[in-house]
Formats: sequence, structure tokens, C-alpha cells
Amino acid sequence: MEELLRRSEKLTTVGQLAAGVAHEIRNPLTTLRGFLQLQQQSKKLNVEHTSLMLSELDRINLIVGEFLILAKPQATRFTTKDVRTVLKEVMSLLDSEAHMYNVVFSHSLTDASCLVSCEENQLKQVFINLLKNGIEAMPNGGRIHAHVARKQDQITISITDEGIGIPEDMIAKIGSPFFTGKESGTGLGMMISQRIIHSHQGLMEIQSQVNVGTTVTIMLPALNTQSNEGILKESEQ
Ligand code: ADP
Ligand code: MG
Repeated sequence: MEELLRRSEKLTTVGQLAAGVAHEIRNPLTTLRGFLQLQQQSKKLNVEHTSLMLSELDRINLIVGEFLILAKPQATRFTTKDVRTVLKEVMSLLDSEAHMYNVVFSHSLTDASCLVSCEENQLKQVFINLLKNGIEAMPNGGRIHAHVARKQDQITISITDEGIGIPEDMIAKIGSPFFTGKESGTGLGMMISQRIIHSHQGLMEIQSQVNVGTTVTIMLPALNTQSNEGILKESEQ
């Protein structure tokens, strides 16, 4: 019974998500169809039309692309990685983009080992989403600071920006599919990040103050050396 309930809850979420995706994709498709119809009636499309068509196509591509991150079951492979390494890799990946927006990255990392069991690409995607949101929240530039700490079996990663912040009544809505405060946002980044963190047995929290900045905190269970040995022994058997 409990299992059935859980299944039906899952179906509802998937159903809601599917309805949202369908809706979000239908809008740009309608625009594209309209323009093609215009062309068929031999009213030549001008540059404005075609550039709008391109941006609508890009939007569909962006939405589908974000969903592909979630829908790759065959690629889900959990390995042992140090969160500090993964985070530093993502920061250098985004460094030139940050630079373009006058954003500087900084970090303070614990000396303790921060091994986690993770699907590396998914975890990277979470960091990418959070850092991008930070950049987008600072139109005049600023600093994004990442702090990694370890307390017993928990690793805490917090990413702090000095951006526009989030009004309190908006915080609860973040992570709902397609909830965006941006003109050309997809509203998928936080939902996908939350799902990824939950599938890693972790938690994600948002703290924010308007015009001061935002801190997103992720908590992940740490693998200690002992449990690593445990995993090794198990796989050797
Ligand atoms: P998108 O970035 O495409 O809008 P997200 O799911 O990544 O979608 O974020 C949803 C919304 O949450 C954003 O549009 C923005 O309004 C708000 N948000 C998320 N992170 C931040 C941040 N660091 N600072 C300010 N607002 C944020
Ligand atoms: Mg985003």
C-alpha cells in the first residue's frame, strides 16, 4: 500500500513535469510554425523573423538539453570523488565566463578529505547551475565564494554570491519546474540540482537577502577511508 502510494506520488510529479515540458516547448513551436506558414504564403521572412526563429529553436534545445541531464540512466555511474577537486574543476571551467561578467571566484576548502560517492557529471552540473545563477544575479559583477567544510560524516559546500538576492516569498518556489525570475530563464536549473542532490542522499538549502546576496548550501554524506575499504572488499568478492 505504502509502495503504491509512493508510486502514484511519483507518477504525479512525472506527469506534472511532462505537462510543463510540453507547454514550454509548444510555445516556441507555435511561433516557429507561424513564421514557416508566413513563408509558405510567399511573404518573405525578414532578418528579425529568422533571428526570432533561431532563438526559439535555441530555447527548445536548451530545455531538452537540461532534461537530458536527468534522463540518462545508462550513464549513471557512481564513483568516489573528492568534492574539492570536482568544485575546483568546475570553477576553472567557468572562469572565463565569470571574467566576462566581472565576476571573480574564490574558495576556502577544508584540509580534510571530502570523498563522496557521486555521479561526477551530475555533481558538476549542480555546481555549474549554482555558479551560473550566481553570475546571473550580479549584473555589475562581484565575487562568488565557495566554502567546503567537513564535520564528521557530512560535507558542506556553500556557494555565496553578492547578487540581487531572492525575496523571501520566492525562495519556497525555487526548484519548482519552470519557476524563473528571469526573462529568458528556463526555471530548470534549481529543480535539476535539487533532484541530483537528493539522489546523492544530500540536502540543498537556500538563504538569501535582497540586495545583499544568496548562499546555496549543499550537504552530502562523506565517505570515510574505512568505508572505502569496505566498498573495495565488497567488490573484490
Ligand atoms: P533560471 O536560472 O533558468 O531562471 P533556476 O532554476 O536556475 O532557473 O533558478 C530559478 C530562479 O531562482 C531564477 O530565475 C532566479 O530568480 C532565482 N535564483 C536562483 N539562484 C539565484 C541567486 N543565486 N541569486 C538570485 N536569484 C536566484
Ligand atoms: Mg539557472
